[in-house]
Amino acid sequence: MGIVDDSGNLLQKAEFSYPHEDVLLEDILNPINEFIHENESDEIDCIGIGVPGIASDTLVNYTCNLPFRDVEIRDYLKTKLPIYVSNDANCAAIAEYQIADGRLFSNYAFVTFGTGIGAGIFINGFLYTGTTGAAGEVGHMVIEKDGIPCKCGRKGCFEKYASVSALKRMTKLNDLKEIFYLSERNSIIQKILDDYIENMAEGLANIINLYDVEMLVIGGSLAEYGEKFLPKLKALIAEKIYNKYTYDLNIKTATLKNDAGIIGASFLEEYL
Ligand SMILES: [Zn+2]
Repeated sequence: MGIVDDSGNLLQKAEFSYPHEDVLLEDILNPINEFIHENESDEIDCIGIGVPGIASDTLVNYTCNLPFRDVEIRDYLKTKLPIYVSNDANCAAIAEYQIADGRLFSNYAFVTFGTGIGAGIFINGFLYTGTTGAAGEVGHMVIEKDGIPCKCGRKGCFEKYASVSALKRMTKLNDLKEIFYLSERNSIIQKILDDYIENMAEGLANIINLYDVEMLVIGGSLAEYGEKFLPKLKALIAEKIYNKYTYDLNIKTATLKNDAGIIGASFLEEYL
């Protein structure tokens, strides 16, 4: 949680962790209410919330790893301020689009690689959230029919092959820094990383084919290691995309780090 000013500066930050995996709705919403109570003032315009799941308006329909099923956020938060809710990848995408890239691009994709894979898609300068708020769930695009089972119910989803969790599973290593370090010293790890980058390229080429974006930004914990994978990734994507002829491949890693979600949530009012 945080307080963000009009320029995207994070003025104050607070964190809490859940006691256990079977977290209750109250375990999440009580600390948020406390934070609102402590900080509500005439200077605060609105509340923005990023959720790891699907939200339309202030209704959180579903979250994969938290107990939100059709929860009307407005009923739980003790505030009269306007509330805006969206997917957390959309929030990070907004922050990167508005603050780091200064809204320079009309068609823009932000794809985040972490535990799963999410995305925020901008079409003609507007965040595309879809009919039910579930647009941009690129992690659940199937890249291998009858492939690895996914929590979403399908098999072969992109995030089963190209998320950071997938890379850790493939290398049997738990630390990204160690994986990239060993990839330059150990031919087995290097081969696994090469396969992994190819998996990334399959999904990202699909996204570029769909949206023909001017800029594609890679976010999430993987973004820190851009110089280790971007050159190969770009070369592979260039081979795979449909428009090989006039397309200027503009791919980079995110500038904003961990707080992008909080900063972007504060700008939801402008994008939803
Ligand atoms: Zn899936």
